[in-house]
Amino acid sequence: MVDYNKAFETAVGSVRTEGRYRVFADIERVRGRFPAALYHPDGGEEAREITVWCSNDYLGMGQHPLVIQAMQDAAGKVGAGAGGTRNIAGTTHFHVKLERSLANLHAKEAALLFTSGYVANEATLATIARILPDCIIISDELNHASMIEGIRGGRSIKRIWRHNDLEHLEEILKELPQERAKVIAFESVYSMDGDIAPICEIAELAKKYNAFTYLDEVHAVGLYGQRGGGVAERDGVLDEIDIIEGTLGKAFGVMGGYIAASAAIVDAIRSYASGFIFTTALSPVLVAGALASVEVLKQSNDLREKHQERATRLKTVLTEAGLPVMPSVSHIVPIKVGDPVLCKKVTDYLLDRHNIYVQPINYPTVPKGTERLRLTPTPLHTDAHMSTLLGALDDVWTALKLQRAA
Ligand SMILES: *Cc1c(COP(=O)(O)O)cnc(C)c1O
Repeated sequence: MVDYNKAFETAVGSVRTEGRYRVFADIERVRGRFPAALYHPDGGEEAREITVWCSNDYLGMGQHPLVIQAMQDAAGKVGAGAGGTRNIAGTTHFHVKLERSLANLHAKEAALLFTSGYVANEATLATIARILPDCIIISDELNHASMIEGIRGGRSIKRIWRHNDLEHLEEILKELPQERAKVIAFESVYSMDGDIAPICEIAELAKKYNAFTYLDEVHAVGLYGQRGGGVAERDGVLDEIDIIEGTLGKAFGVMGGYIAASAAIVDAIRSYASGFIFTTALSPVLVAGALASVEVLKQSNDLREKHQERATRLKTVLTEAGLPVMPSVSHIVPIKVGDPVLCKKVTDYLLDRHNIYVQPINYPTVPKGTERLRLTPTPLHTDAHMSTLLGALDDVWTALKLQRAA
């Protein structure tokens, strides 16, 4: 007889053996006090204060007074949920306004909301493959799991191109038949290494070989470009990208995902994507908050500039102290540990002894042997926060006899 429970336990057992069993930290963010939060060590009511160093609320917009106000007002005005799919009573005026605002942010004709960035990628890529007959998707080898799942779901042919390697991309494009539809799928900021794709050059290759471009700007929207339109805006290539995909859950601080593209593309995805059609629309409360956040960040560069300044400062401080900071040209600050068990030990030590919260990043999020800490400084992390962090890292590096930079 099949022992069902045993099968599940065995599956988790192998994750444990490899030292990458995931433990979620039970925390409560405190409104207005980010990056401070309360940590519940054993799930009970008892809590102590910690400093969060690994949030993707990159600018603290999840705590912004105008965002919170917009959400409270929306709940007061229209209630909690959307009450249906977009097609059946679920499209509120907030959804319409947010889609218009996102289209404008990316200088596209239209935009389409999804429940999350993950769903946006999965649903859109699978649908593209169904709409473009015999299409071949050329995917950067470090693309996010949601893109990989979308490509798999579309059952098109997939070619993997070496990370950000333009020569390899051109090699692949060159050998594919001219008449076949080709989609280049990639990201702008790669969130685990902090490197940035050469969007301009990729767009040029796309033009040369008549390929379609799909760009995930999840870790760049709100953060780069004069209005927060991402790296494509910063590099002046918004027009060269066919579909830009983003999230409302990271720099915009709320929840949800979207694509921005031509009216024809958005209309087709809206009409064919199962993951868009057959699910309840985002709560208008979330949509109102996201709309406020997008509008705030369109109008002001202050937070973006401060964010970059803080990231540069943190990289300098840690590098000068001899910690193995991995090279990054963005706001992400990875520190290499190189072993899953040690990586978890480091973060436990930081939390238990120093009240500093950094989640260990292990396989399959990053390749084995490159396990790391991934720090995300925000405009709200002060010099004092940084020197406390530095002291704590120095302590744990000594205590666990970890390798310093050469
Ligand atoms: C987080 C992430 C997503 C998914 O976005 P969510 O809104 O969190 O679902 C998509 N792509 C990349 C590169 C991501 O890191």
